Amino acid sequence: MIGKLLVPSVWGIAESIFFASLPFILKPKKSYKLVDTFFILLLVFICVRSFHTTQQHGISPNPDYSRLKANYFTLGHFIGRVIPYYYGGLSDTPPYSAKEPKITSAPLAKNIIFVVGESQNTNNMGVFGYDRDTTPFLSYLAKNNNQAIIKPTISGALMTAVALPTLFNAIEKPNGSLQISKGTTNLFYLAKKQGYNTQFYSAQAENQMMIMNIIGLRWIDRMVFPTELGYKKSENMPDSYLLDYLKKVDLNSAQPNFVILHQRGSHVPYGSLLNDEDHVFGTETIIDKYDNTIHKTDQLLQSIYDYLNSSGKDDWILVFTSDHGQNVSNETFNHGQFTTSSYTVPALVYSPNNQIQSDIKEQFDPCNTLFHQQISTLLISLMGYDLPISNCKIGYVNGNLLTGDSGYLEINQETHEIKKIK
Ligand SMILES: [Zn+2]
Repeated sequence: MIGKLLVPSVWGIAESIFFASLPFILKPKKSYKLVDTFFILLLVFICVRSFHTTQQHGISPNPDYSRLKANYFTLGHFIGRVIPYYYGGLSDTPPYSAKEPKITSAPLAKNIIFVVGESQNTNNMGVFGYDRDTTPFLSYLAKNNNQAIIKPTISGALMTAVALPTLFNAIEKPNGSLQISKGTTNLFYLAKKQGYNTQFYSAQAENQMMIMNIIGLRWIDRMVFPTELGYKKSENMPDSYLLDYLKKVDLNSAQPNFVILHQRGSHVPYGSLLNDEDHVFGTETIIDKYDNTIHKTDQLLQSIYDYLNSSGKDDWILVFTSDHGQNVSNETFNHGQFTTSSYTVPALVYSPNNQIQSDIKEQFDPCNTLFHQQISTLLISLMGYDLPISNCKIGYVNGNLLTGDSGYLEINQETHEIKKIK
């Protein structure tokens, strides 16, 4: 870290000395009590506001803000939220921690392709009984390939900023902030330790992915945002470009690959990145537009599946899920609330390797609905760790704060009991 921190630290110290010494050098005759009081009040305000916050704003600096503004928010969050909650024991939710899993073998799956969807619920998917055929590929696969696992899955949280860190750090239940900082169950950390080439290709705008530092930024070998193709930092790109990136990955290299294809998928406004020919259900209603995005994702999955299959090898596994769901009707559309559609998402797991696939099937078959934690632990075990795949008895859906302080659900699939905590 020294190499990275040295210059900014020296600069910060020099800058602070310079400004702090100004009153002694300039010796102003007037006093600036009013301005000073205003300045202090501003700092107090952001600390108090952060203390009471119900969202993740300020947890990491927004690269789109000016240095002053970004620091204002993060300083407020650190002093007003992190320190009092950490040292004052203010959180009702005990910190979650987990042991680092041990390596037991070489990687079981050489090429892990993990497609991370966006705002995709199961209600609008043909394969799960929706009356529109929005998922012809998944429906075909479900019918003709009895090895493929296609199941509804309960996401770990309701919003991207909490769901993705939870998924990529295998956080079983809230409050996993400390475990995320430790990083010992981070998928990229574990992948790198097993020699994987870790790659994260995102169709989402760079300035909307400031959560990368709690997803595992420091262990990602290659990270790509639409900016690489000339888009602005605030622009998303069509998901189909993710396939182009996948095609550039050397799946035949001696080194194993852990590849994330992160979609823009079904994010609002629905279908803003689709072409005219993608509007298969028309564009009249909100549901029409949403269904088009589900259909488009189905096509993407098919093209990825076909591409991987064309290698003729069985050294890959394709895993797909969505970060969280979406509550869509023609009157309203949103996510972030504790409604079933906001946390019920699809999952697809398929490897042509019979041994791998039948082992996973054995574990997943008893579950009608999976939990995201099962996907995380599956990926870790595929990398060659001793971590057992978690079961589908009890799972958690976190609200809009990693700490669980804005409430979360405990879902017991055996007793069908859903407990709202806080
Ligand atoms: Zn999302």
